[in-house]
Amino acid sequence: MEQQSRDFLRLADEAIASPERSENREMLGAFMPTLREKAVKDFGGNEDFDALRNDVKAIRQHALEHLGHYLETFTRNARENGSSVNFARNGDELNEIVLDICARSEASRVAKGKSMITEETGLNGALEAAGFSVRETDLGEYIIQEAGETPSHIVGPALHKTQSEIRELFLERHQLGERDLASAGEMVAEARQVLREDFLAAEVGIIGSNALIAENGYSMLVTNEGNGDLCANLPPVLIICTSIDRILPRTDDAMAMLRLLVRSTTGQAVSCYTSFYAGPRRPGDVDGPLETHFVLLDNKRSDILASDYAEMLQCIRCGACLNHCPVYMSAGGHAYGWVYPGPMGSVLTPLLTSLEESYLLPDACTACGRCEEVCPASIPLPGLLRDLRHEAFTEGITATRWRLGIGLHGWLARHPRLYQKVTGFAVSVMHRLGRRRGVIRKLPFAGGWLEARDLPTPAAKTFQQEHQDSLEQ
Ligand code: SF4
Repeated sequence: MEQQSRDFLRLADEAIASPERSENREMLGAFMPTLREKAVKDFGGNEDFDALRNDVKAIRQHALEHLGHYLETFTRNARENGSSVNFARNGDELNEIVLDICARSEASRVAKGKSMITEETGLNGALEAAGFSVRETDLGEYIIQEAGETPSHIVGPALHKTQSEIRELFLERHQLGERDLASAGEMVAEARQVLREDFLAAEVGIIGSNALIAENGYSMLVTNEGNGDLCANLPPVLIICTSIDRILPRTDDAMAMLRLLVRSTTGQAVSCYTSFYAGPRRPGDVDGPLETHFVLLDNKRSDILASDYAEMLQCIRCGACLNHCPVYMSAGGHAYGWVYPGPMGSVLTPLLTSLEESYLLPDACTACGRCEEVCPASIPLPGLLRDLRHEAFTEGITATRWRLGIGLHGWLARHPRLYQKVTGFAVSVMHRLGRRRGVIRKLPFAGGWLEARDLPTPAAKTFQQEHQDSLEQ
């Protein structure tokens, strides 16, 4: 997927101005905030939720601190189960390994389950360029594949689409005859009908993984549609693409993570399907793939693990931070310009690509702190975003006018007497400007900020001036 994070401001402006996105925003705005409340209630209150959060955090931290050991254990056990385990240093390597497996299988059709890792590596484009036909089988992924778009949310890839947009899309792309797809149920049935043929015809199935379990070499996958199981069990060849940080020591650890993941993602107590893939079909098995291949992506994750941002690897990809982020909810996922949007994307994108390309993303934050509050992995997202902003500033990546402004503010803050004089003067001018209307609608250097909001007229004096006056009286 081509990275456009440099265009964040333009893409966000366009999304905010779009009438379709406005309709979509209202719908999501009413739905999303209830998810966390439901999760906490299901656990019997904040205490139990926080206790499990701490346990899972400790498990993830331990797994990442011993990543090499657990990857080795996983690899040994998965190979003993009959799977092949491949490691890819970057996206191109992952794509090459998958292409090679597909070519060796003499495949022409691939059925795919939802996988953000393959979005990260641009696998669909690579497969299609090599002549393979690829069908996304998760309903949301199928919709955006038909629309020629990219996911806007890590859990609900087509959340940006309204029901009427999806209906129009199906009317245009499918041979429908008399059927007019008046309800959501009819659209789902339509997609199911189309996808059924793809499941049966595909020679290769590709899926992602929510957890790699070291103690037995299994992979756990959580879905609500069951499409992952069809991709995994119907085609003769199964490829599981995921990243090295998905490793967990034991099945019990995966179950603990599952309890947090599902509640934080959709507010459900448990997902419709939780599947464990143990390798290729064994003698006596009635179904299952004839071959199972793991492709495990690094793509700078080893570097992140050794950096001050290592905590970000504890992310369990639940999407809760997106659902509660005012910036994501206004701008939508496509504005972030790459695979991972919202607060987690604003941290991950600069780390997985480059800060030069995506330095605007850490600024896309109101510092409200809601993302950290709802994150089931307790990742200090606002702190990590602040660290990235600091890094962009110190490395000279931040735009010159911002650097000058922040530098000037920093210098003034180190000279308190001058700072008080300058702020006192500015406040008295602003007071005079807005006295009559009660609000200020224009200010030099703050045009963008005032475009969508009014600034209440400040008092005639700063708090410190008032305090000084009261001492002198
Ligand atoms: S950062 Fe936390 S809230 Fe966001 S997707 Fe990851 S685990 Fe979920």
